[in-house]
Amino acid sequence: MFKLKIDIATLFPRMFEGPLDESILKRARQKGLLEIAIHQLRDYAEDKHRVTDDRPFGGGPGMVMRVEPIVRCVESLKAADSWVILLSPRGAPLRQATLTRLAQRPHLILLCGHYEGVDERARELVVDEEISIGDYVLTNGALPAMVLVDGVARLVPGVLGDAESATEESFSDGLLEYPQYTRPAEFRGRKAPEVLLSGNHEEIARWRKEQSRRLTRERRPDLGK
Ligand code: SAM
Repeated sequence: MFKLKIDIATLFPRMFEGPLDESILKRARQKGLLEIAIHQLRDYAEDKHRVTDDRPFGGGPGMVMRVEPIVRCVESLKAADSWVILLSPRGAPLRQATLTRLAQRPHLILLCGHYEGVDERARELVVDEEISIGDYVLTNGALPAMVLVDGVARLVPGVLGDAESATEESFSDGLLEYPQYTRPAEFRGRKAPEVLLSGNHEEIARWRKEQSRRLTRERRPDLGK
């Protein structure tokens, strides 16, 4: 059975309590399909005050995460098949295709930054890939790491049940998903499209494809280019 192991290095382990222990992720962890461990970067600092940051060389505002705790932490977790990801606004934008690729790896190590980011040498020495979850800046890498974990975990075989298929959703074929409806067939005068109640699977598939194309054209003309 394929299992995805994810180690997360952060200054804020408590932020991860809850989100990784609900619903589909909770079930995946219980089934042994997903193994997640959170590591306090402070525990890898060498001095007795467990300092993980310092002033930037060259001046400027804020603090920079020191290289030593990061490298020590990653090196203690790393195996031959590990892939180390630094969450960073400078990274490549996270896409569904990125998640599909990462879901095939047996072991991910996620590094969460804080302050002004991490000493560049940490990236050079231990990071395989830098990923951004969007063109905006958050206070630290915990939420980006959780976004990545959630997105990648649901692509691990066996994690999603039949009721939660990942095959016909937004981005799976380069298009946004078509509109969905369920009971009641009419609500406050608004009817679900008749074709969806027709039982004609060919017609339904055609309608859905058209709607996907229309929505993608209107909302995300950049997709598929
Ligand atoms: N000074 C950095 C810059 O301008 O690129 C921003 C650092 S940010 C305040 C602190 C940390 O939060 C980053 O090191 C990263 O780990 C995380 N972070 C913030 N926004 C992010 C994003 N859009 N994607 C991924 N990680 C992000």
